[in-house]
Amino acid sequence: MTPQIRTLNDWIERSENIVFFGGAGVSTESGLADFRGESGIYSQKYDFPYPPERMLSHSFFISNPAEFYEFYRKMMINESVRPNTAHLRLAELEKAGKLRTVITQNIDNLHQMAGSKSVLELHGSCYRNFCMNCRKFYPISAITGTTGVPRCECGGIIKPDVVLYEEGLDESVIQAAIDAIRSCQMLIVGGTSLSVYPAAGLINYYSGDRLVLINSSPTSYDAQASLLLTQKIGEVFSQV
Ligand code: ZN
Repeated sequence: MTPQIRTLNDWIERSENIVFFGGAGVSTESGLADFRGESGIYSQKYDFPYPPERMLSHSFFISNPAEFYEFYRKMMINESVRPNTAHLRLAELEKAGKLRTVITQNIDNLHQMAGSKSVLELHGSCYRNFCMNCRKFYPISAITGTTGVPRCECGGIIKPDVVLYEEGLDESVIQAAIDAIRSCQMLIVGGTSLSVYPAAGLINYYSGDRLVLINSSPTSYDAQASLLLTQKIGEVFSQV
């Protein structure tokens, strides 16, 4: 066990209000592709006419829902993916009364599958979908069990409850994330390069002295970390 891991365990032991803030790296270790990582969407065979940022934009969804769903079903949904060590250990820490909230940029429901109850999903969830006409909610099967553009029983188009490009984040979720970060004793940030809005802005609300950064590559916030672990998040949590 490295001195850094020992320190991490010591701080967890002494903290009762931990918040975890996670990015794409938490999910890629479960085998989910991100956009630009080594196993990302761009390094696979990519046979769509536009880059992911366009395929997953609000305006594209509105103007080309059939093509949007073709992309979305193939590239964004993977129901065979399971929680990894990091998800499972975080859920255990919540159960033990150590961890208060998980804040995630991922839309894959893996924290909930692992047993976490308090999860703030900054970008929504592909496990929730709603009718744009009558707001009725639908499970993921409304997308995976259909072809073409999924429709509500009222005839309206069903939209994933996911923040698309060009769309704003949910203000109440952002506020809850700010409150959680501001009041926590220990903030663990993992699997994010902190280069994408709103991640970097959010961690600035933390004013404590136990900011832990876990990422397999350097981030622009490394100098601000109280404890820096430049390694895979699963490797770290398997020793927590
Ligand atoms: Zn409807």
